[in-house]
Amino acid sequence: MADIKSQAERSKNMSAIRSRETKPEIKIRKALFAKGFRYRLNVRKLPGTPDIVLPKYRTVIFVHGCFWHGHEHCYLFVVPTTRTDFWINKIRINKENDNKAIENLLHDNWKVLTIWECSIKGKYKLKFDELIDKTVSFILSDEKQQVMRSSE
Ligand SMILES: [Zn+2]
Repeated sequence: MADIKSQAERSKNMSAIRSRETKPEIKIRKALFAKGFRYRLNVRKLPGTPDIVLPKYRTVIFVHGCFWHGHEHCYLFVVPTTRTDFWINKIRINKENDNKAIENLLHDNWKVLTIWECSIKGKYKLKFDELIDKTVSFILSDEKQQVMRSSE
């Protein structure tokens, strides 16, 4: 069958894909791969479409932007002074969806790691090796949930 997608549609799809591929996330994936972990990406059938899924360890990883996901008490989360209500409302909905997704995943026996953006970039980021070590120990542990954030 002929490709009936218009050029505009195609480039729209491409940019949607690019926006999910944040650089720090790629770095984390590569490091995990180098340590022998195999994963799947953006598994849509799982609640919240986790960024990284390690089926063998029944572990999912979310890499969350501090602004979009409303990271509380984080220097990267600053509500804009214009259209403030719009942003507060939008971010509140994102947070509600995140919490619901995590709840459902835990209920289905998945282990859930949330890596906040501030732990991988910016002035208070963790040392990358440390971050990967922590990630690996979580994957191999019996813990159900962990959150990584900046050292601030
Ligand atoms: Zn943060």
